Amino acid sequence: MRPFTRRHFLVAAGASTVAAMFPHAVRGQAARPHVVVVGGGFGGATAAKYLRHWGAGAVDVTLVDSRPNHPSCILSNLVLNDQVTLRSITFGFDGLSSRFGVRVVRDRVDRIEPDLRQVRLASGEHVRYDRLVLSPGITFDRVPGLDSRLVPHAWKAGGQTHLLRRQLAALPSGGTFVMSISPVPYRCPPGPYERACVVADYLRREKGGGQVIVLDANPQIIAERHTFTTAFEQTYAGIIDYRPDTSVVEVDSAGRALHTAAGEVVRGDVANVIPAQRAPGLLRRAGLVNDASRRWAGVDPLGYESTAHPGIHVIGDAQATGQPKAGHIANAEAKICADAILRAFEGLPPDPEPVTNSACYSPITSDTASWLTAAFRYDAATGAMKVVPESSGEAESPTRENYRDMFGWANNLFADTFGLS
Ligand SMILES: Cc1cc2nc3c(=O)[nH]c(=O)nc-3n(C[C@H](O)[C@H](O)[C@H](O)COP(=O)(O)OP(=O)(O)OC[C@H]3O[C@@H](n4cnc5c(N)ncnc54)[C@H](O)[C@@H]3O)c2cc1C
Repeated sequence: MRPFTRRHFLVAAGASTVAAMFPHAVRGQAARPHVVVVGGGFGGATAAKYLRHWGAGAVDVTLVDSRPNHPSCILSNLVLNDQVTLRSITFGFDGLSSRFGVRVVRDRVDRIEPDLRQVRLASGEHVRYDRLVLSPGITFDRVPGLDSRLVPHAWKAGGQTHLLRRQLAALPSGGTFVMSISPVPYRCPPGPYERACVVADYLRREKGGGQVIVLDANPQIIAERHTFTTAFEQTYAGIIDYRPDTSVVEVDSAGRALHTAAGEVVRGDVANVIPAQRAPGLLRRAGLVNDASRRWAGVDPLGYESTAHPGIHVIGDAQATGQPKAGHIANAEAKICADAILRAFEGLPPDPEPVTNSACYSPITSDTASWLTAAFRYDAATGAMKVVPESSGEAESPTRENYRDMFGWANNLFADTFGLS
């Protein structure tokens, strides 16, 4: 990646075209292009940082997040069995502002107005942009009867994670934990299976046993199949009861009872329903949710520019390139997106052969973990990101070394994303 300088920009654009390209230009002089980034999670924080870092100060960047900080979903299953605290995986945006000069605004974006190239905030303020990057994560489908104050999803880290942890701590000895997994695609493919293992381990160590019932809407385990099949059938034999092809269609939240499509009612002392997911309504209202399923935002993987509105980019879980919905790959997508935007400001095309990669560690017990890795390369013939088989795979078995490496991997990702180094 070449650093983008103001000189590059002016030479490439030509002074006479600058005012037409950037609405901020005043009195014939170009203002710096302004990129607004919505969402300070794994995609958005990384994009904001690298736009400033690689842009060498020639691009103004405003990051808008409705929260003062970002509680990471990554490692959040380990809050459930007290291996980490939520506080230790919650990141502010100070590094992005003090080290990289990102302007951080705490507010909620309520509306995108592509024709005016502006976003409207909950406070009523409008923020104009030359390019807009959206990384707002996911929203959930409604499940009849589901009240997440009683039956948490804990699939967005924060208060929900603490609630599920408290419920588990109060679970009676030998009690039952019942959880549901939504159909693909959902955030973090191995995450629910990892959660089943973490809870089973906790019940065995802290509650003298118990049962974990996993109702999976999918026909089989969809990530790290070998690892989780072994864990369910051997490590946690007699504790984990895995039931594929089992969709939850209704919930009695007060009774912690999950009703399945087959008419069965499965009760637990603690229930955890992870509903089906899609791109947030903010994107739908702006006409950005246009993939074949009408659930995710269609983008060109060369720079994550929307196929519905030019100048708007969607990265992370909300987009529809078919890559896993994971924080590591959101970080990689953000860099490709930032590079493409900086090139566009220089009048250059995006990198024609982007490559992304994702690694993920899954704790299996309180001191062992497995891993999964996948790489994707742009395929010009289809315009899609394709798996690179020789660079993708999973660990042979969970080990203590993997468990230690998991924290190194996560800390590197946190530092890179939130501008801590
Ligand atoms: C239990 C669990 C474990 C996981 N483990 C892993 C793992 O090991 N490895 C891995 O790679 N991934 C993992 N993931 C997945 C990962 O957390 C997500 O894929 C990743 O967070 C997606 O990044 P994002 O930028 O799309 O969204 P997010 O990181 O969710 O960020 C979205 C941000 O946007 C903000 N926002 C949303 N709407 C608005 C709005 N309208 N206005 C202003 N701000 C807004 C939110 O406050 C939030 O800060 C895990 C997920 C879970 C649930």
